[in-house]
Amino acid sequence: MRRPIVVGNWKMHGSRAENARLIEELGGHYPRNPAADCVICPPLVYVQEIGRLLRDTPIRLGAQDVCADTHGAFTGEVSAAMLKDVGCEYTIVGHSERRLLYRESDQLVARKFAAAHSKGLIPILCVGEQLSERDSGRTAEVVSRQLDAVLELCGVETLGQSVVAYEPVWAIGTGRTATPEQAQEVHAAIRARIGARDAKIAGATRILYGGSVKASNAAELFSMADVDGGLIGGASLKADEFLAILKAAG
Ligand code: PEP
Repeated sequence: MRRPIVVGNWKMHGSRAENARLIEELGGHYPRNPAADCVICPPLVYVQEIGRLLRDTPIRLGAQDVCADTHGAFTGEVSAAMLKDVGCEYTIVGHSERRLLYRESDQLVARKFAAAHSKGLIPILCVGEQLSERDSGRTAEVVSRQLDAVLELCGVETLGQSVVAYEPVWAIGTGRTATPEQAQEVHAAIRARIGARDAKIAGATRILYGGSVKASNAAELFSMADVDGGLIGGASLKADEFLAILKAAG
């Protein structure tokens, strides 16, 4: 039985005052024994402070990205060990905004995944196709390629200790959500791809859906057999929406 998980990706939003308000609202209404894991990934500059604010809650802390290298002359970068040092337990790698806006290749994403895993962070590996790729029937090919880069560099065992997030690029921040059936089809394909290497690991790997998940569509998406929760952008910035999504996951 896979425990559901909901991850909030705050992207580059918030301020110290707004963050404190949001955490207070979340903490005040958060169930004592939640039926789903919850992770928040704030902007890096706020990670430590959010960690302090979350101390008495079951909500875990994550980062939005990590450097592929361990230390040295990499101006502006932050290593997996540093993230771990300030209390992160998770980190997103390969978000489509990083792949597209910062030209991160499948190979770089795989190296980031390896760096995170090697320092004891749980990587949340994002995969997903662009609209033109879906329209030309290449969804499975693109997602498999992104997944294979990690499987080849890191091995299937490491994937079993991580989280995969299927995020169709055309659904991120657009208000356009994949239908539950579209999500299920790709999630099942991802599980089968992992299963071709190790069926037990495939059965245990949590696969999240991300892309305009809201309180109003979460339950339907999360009811699909291979959807184990969500990676939430915009709706993670609104306490009532995010809490309702968490409830739907549980
Ligand atoms: C995301 O940033 O990963 C995401 C899914 O965003 P949104 O929920 O806003 O579409």
